[in-house]
Amino acid sequence: MRGMMGKVLVVDLSTGTMVEQVVPVEAYRDYLGGVGLAARLLTDMIPAGADPMGPDNVLAFMSGLLTGTGSMMTGRWMVCCKSPLTGGWGDANCGGTLSPEIKRCGWDGILFRGISAGPVAFVADGNGPRLVDASAQWGLDAIESEDSFKAAWDGAKKPVVATIGPAAEKLSLISGISNDGGRYAARSGVGAVMGSKRLKAVVLSGNKPIPCADKARVQEISKAFTRKIGKINLPGFMTGAFMPLMGKMLGMKTVVPVDGILASAILKKWGTIYNNTAGIVNGDSPVRNWGGSVKDFNYKKYSKLNPDRIVARETKKYHCYSCVIGCGGICDASGTGAKGSHMHKPEYETCCAFGALVLSDDLDAIFLCNDICNRSGLDTISAGSTVAFALECYERGILTKDDTGGLELRWGDGKAIVALLTMMAERRGIGDILADGVALAAKRLGKGSDAIAVHAGGQEPGMHDGRMDPMMAVAFSADPTPGRHTISSAVYYNVSHLWEFVSWAPPVTRPYFKAKEFVASDEEALKSVAGACVKQLLDATGGCLFALTTGLQHWRLFEWLNAATGETRTPDEWMDAGRRIQTARAAFGAREKAADSGKAQARDYPLANPRIYGEPPLDRGPLAGNTVPLQAMVERYRREFGWDEKSGAPLPAMTGNQ
Ligand code: SF4
Repeated sequence: MRGMMGKVLVVDLSTGTMVEQVVPVEAYRDYLGGVGLAARLLTDMIPAGADPMGPDNVLAFMSGLLTGTGSMMTGRWMVCCKSPLTGGWGDANCGGTLSPEIKRCGWDGILFRGISAGPVAFVADGNGPRLVDASAQWGLDAIESEDSFKAAWDGAKKPVVATIGPAAEKLSLISGISNDGGRYAARSGVGAVMGSKRLKAVVLSGNKPIPCADKARVQEISKAFTRKIGKINLPGFMTGAFMPLMGKMLGMKTVVPVDGILASAILKKWGTIYNNTAGIVNGDSPVRNWGGSVKDFNYKKYSKLNPDRIVARETKKYHCYSCVIGCGGICDASGTGAKGSHMHKPEYETCCAFGALVLSDDLDAIFLCNDICNRSGLDTISAGSTVAFALECYERGILTKDDTGGLELRWGDGKAIVALLTMMAERRGIGDILADGVALAAKRLGKGSDAIAVHAGGQEPGMHDGRMDPMMAVAFSADPTPGRHTISSAVYYNVSHLWEFVSWAPPVTRPYFKAKEFVASDEEALKSVAGACVKQLLDATGGCLFALTTGLQHWRLFEWLNAATGETRTPDEWMDAGRRIQTARAAFGAREKAADSGKAQARDYPLANPRIYGEPPLDRGPLAGNTVPLQAMVERYRREFGWDEKSGAPLPAMTGNQ
């Protein structure tokens, strides 16, 4: 299949050996690239019951099938492994510029097994791949580490660097992997796995051509998409002050189908922070450790997070590789206490996790938390969620001043939040107990704290409330990487226009009552399945979720796939690959759950903390009274996939293990 390099590199960090492996044609045909190919390969390479922090775990840096072929917004890279956070399949996804560089070095993925005796970096360039001593970089924060490798580079073409920070070196299970100065593959505890291998960085500078079956056709589709996105802009009068109103409209009891391309105009102007205030008003943003609402974080507070206030600090826009939207930005960080003069613009997830979730309207503190996380390597979603958990523990007397070393933990106190986050990043004092996320912190603290430890299957959920969007609650609970906000939701589904291409995807062409989304019906389950399958296609190809949300009638994924690969598959057939990948991820998780049973490393967590699905429901705010029939919805979702309804394990007929 064209589009792929045809091989992966397997690096054994224990022995220093490196072997290029030719990938069987069937693996590409059935699992494509990215997460799909990793799921296929790692299922065989990682022995059942492997210690996720041990030498048998494999950490795979994967490029996407479409990356570098000339298609647009398909430049994301994926990192996959057994997750030490959830005990199941782990993957995380990131923008930036690493994905094409993996291919330019000659591989579709670079897979690391074993554990190095000392800190090393993997380097690949025109002189081939090698491991180099990284003792000098060990201990540097992620930004310093990247700068250090780039400064020491003597080749003509500067490398792309993916690196970990000190939190990952200290094996924090909520740490990720940085590239491009603070773009993160943050979820599933992938940073901790890299730290456990003593692999400080992956440094790539390649120049190999990336194959594409029909370059002219790919470019023709790309040009049409670029033209469309270029034309869509918001009128000048549309300022951040309008966002609460937009939030109200999106939170109405009737859902009206819209063209997703409008979202690209919003993303071009603000990036994801457009939702800072809109999400508070309609209930999308969780408040006060998922126990509050806009009544606790009212206009006076949320208006301080107006996206215009953040964009005012933006000095330039940031685009990932092959992106025409450019939702990112580089911001002036002066006056915030941040280490450097500039930083990546905090994303909505970060603004909410260190804003509404902890009742803080202190924008400087949010910038500083963003900087601490980006430098140390902590995942902002999990870190903010853990701070919120600690604040509630303190309020309830589960934690006291004696536990925190004298630090008073009060809701909304930006200074205390920064201080606690710093302790987590350094694993100092109470920070050591909290540094692995809320599930393990609750286990260590006891005293009934698990009731307020908001996680799904061990991972803290993204900042989108399942009580507003039940499909999101299902994704949080039933995805093989639980807690992920990028898998599926009614919002993503409705703007994707998937049904125009995929015969079995339920159409959303007319207004409907939102109450319908709260019913455990086959139709809702099918939408969740379709959302999960197309997301796996994105993570196999390198596609960006925000490209999908412009709508597949604009971002013509299926046409690009045929043009780049030379295949002639229908959208249904491409979606079959998405279904196969999702099942492979689930099968890996089920296998590991069974193999880990009884071991200290076992992560036997419930589907989701009841706050995620409204049991009991909130008694005030826009989501008051909302309860998601989660168990019933998850069971229908699993049935649609052909998995066991109760356990989520794919049935033998689905995996071929008959
Ligand atoms: S929309 Fe944003 S996240 Fe997606 S590829 Fe573009 S810059 Fe990256």
